[in-house]
Amino acid sequence: CGIVGYIGELDAKEILLKGLEKLEYRGYDSAGIALANESGVTVFKEKGRIADLRAVIDPSAEANTGIGHTRWATHGVPDVRNAHPHQDASGRFTLVHNGVIENYGQLRSEYLAGIELKSETDTEIIVQLISLFATEGLTTEEAFAKTLGLLHGSYAISMLDGQAPEMIFVAKNKSPLLVGLGEGFNVVSSDAMAMLQVTDQFVELHDGEIVLLTKDGIRIRTIGGEPVSRAPFTAELDA
Ligand code: GLU
Repeated sequence: CGIVGYIGELDAKEILLKGLEKLEYRGYDSAGIALANESGVTVFKEKGRIADLRAVIDPSAEANTGIGHTRWATHGVPDVRNAHPHQDASGRFTLVHNGVIENYGQLRSEYLAGIELKSETDTEIIVQLISLFATEGLTTEEAFAKTLGLLHGSYAISMLDGQAPEMIFVAKNKSPLLVGLGEGFNVVSSDAMAMLQVTDQFVELHDGEIVLLTKDGIRIRTIGGEPVSRAPFTAELDA
């Protein structure tokens, strides 16, 4: 399983698909991507191989921002409905997740009793909580941080807000995730290899940090809001 993300000036879908192919060695049962542009966020997902995902993607779908996921099912059978990305009911927030949310049942009954879920995954709870807190008046970043503070378990997460397509929201806990830096673009990846196609400059992320990516830069803060600065390293792997 794995995660990729791209924000820049090129066609995101081809970079995401190439990245997902590089992550195939980690194992997966389904895959998906979300593409964000001025007219909104579009999700494509499919059970099976990356080649099967390619076949369901509209070749004319153009976007300079996107996230991608390969799933290794832990909660819910491997099928299209349970494949990531997952969205809230309004379709505003779109999220991919690797890992396991141990308290998802408790969070669902405590906060989401009135909401009809679309999948059987623990992951959908995360995006529904973010949506709920945003509806209650928090900014996206605040809703993201509040939700992360409620989660028990492991996660690598990337999220899009359809109202801010020029940004990707990222966080991790006990699951690997890196940010890659470029000129006029930035990327997210479970490992450096998947994004060596575009950069060899990567920044390590620590548990309990939230990263905002735009095409021009990244901003890291702790969930508590403290700024973090960390130098990139150069990845030296065979692409
Ligand atoms: N627990 C999530 C699910 O079953 C994520 C699995 C993964 O790491 O790919 O959908």
